[in-house]
Amino acid sequence: MLECRCPQCRIGRVFTGSAYSFHKQRTNEVCAYCGLQFEIEPGYFYAAMYVSYAMSVAEVVGGGALIYFLTRSESPTLYAIALFVIIIASSPINYRYSRLILLYYLTPRLKYDSKYQDLYEQRHQD
Ligand SMILES: [Zn+2]
Repeated sequence: MLECRCPQCRIGRVFTGSAYSFHKQRTNEVCAYCGLQFEIEPGYFYAAMYVSYAMSVAEVVGGGALIYFLTRSESPTLYAIALFVIIIASSPINYRYSRLILLYYLTPRLKYDSKYQDLYEQRHQD
């Protein structure tokens, strides 16, 4: 999951490009390797917003606690600026991993199938 691979074959990539680039992030429609359709039904990735929200809350709470322990500051401006930076900096990560968490853990229908990995290894042996 950390490498943003397809939940079914673990070979094909779920996203185009890298998380931090100037190109707009895109989720591939199907896995280039096993043909799995990532957006299983229309609006499927809306559910990822809830995952993303939970991740943001965790990051903001964690970031706020970290700033407090590092600086012992009580300045609201410092927290506002720092948390804003945290939210902006982590948004590409939230975008990717909220979708991956949804694909890997919250969709029981999607299962890892080792036959794809076996096929892949056979092909790359010679
Ligand atoms: Zn795949």
